[in-house]
Amino acid sequence: MKAELQQLVALQNLDTSIRKLQLELEAIPTRRAEIEAEFDRRAFEIRALETARDDARHSRSQLEIEVSEQKTRAERAERNLMSSKKQDEYTAAIREADAARKQISTLETQILEKMEALEKAEASLTERADEVASLNSDREARLKSFDDETREQATRLAASRAERERLINALPKAMGADYNRISKRIRDGIAVAEARNGACMACFMALRPQAMAQVRRGDEVITCENCNRILYYAPAESASTNPAPAQPKVAHT
Ligand SMILES: [Zn+2]
Repeated sequence: MKAELQQLVALQNLDTSIRKLQLELEAIPTRRAEIEAEFDRRAFEIRALETARDDARHSRSQLEIEVSEQKTRAERAERNLMSSKKQDEYTAAIREADAARKQISTLETQILEKMEALEKAEASLTERADEVASLNSDREARLKSFDDETREQATRLAASRAERERLINALPKAMGADYNRISKRIRDGIAVAEARNGACMACFMALRPQAMAQVRRGDEVITCENCNRILYYAPAESASTNPAPAQPKVAHT
């Protein structure tokens, strides 16, 4: 019986780690999507910077073409001014030259703005040059290591399940069935609880002294009257030498 209770505790520990692995595996699609979203966000930012840089560059050359057109217009107006014979020709030439100069001044302000935008975008891209260069390979590497980790967890889970089968089959049939029944009914799946200091360590209900004595003897399966878990007793010396005994969490059932 004592050996069987030890097997139950081992089974319980295994089930706890199986449950943890399952939760991790269930969270994988979400975690993978988060990694992809993070890389998408960075790629989007970089594309936006590149677009801003290209747009500024293009606008600047367009504005420069317009400036040279306005300079031609101003020169023509200056020539007309020199050759004007009549007052109205003279006035028209002055007005034309003024308009062209005003236009040039506006265009030059716009060119300065485009140059600032261009410098800003280029500076940001220079700052992130390493990231830009390796973004795609970083993404692939990050996802690959995530997928490797996932496969490893799935392998561990399969191995743990096989080990669980082995442990269940090694138990007397009725005991294995009891364990499975209790484990399924209890929300956290902890079917085995340590009895210590006269209480169940899962629900903290005090045990009758006779029940505690029976658990200590370990000749039969004793369950907690409150939470129905199978109780086992770990002698104090083994509990103190083993820092992580099978100690179930408190369940709110
Ligand atoms: Zn209990």
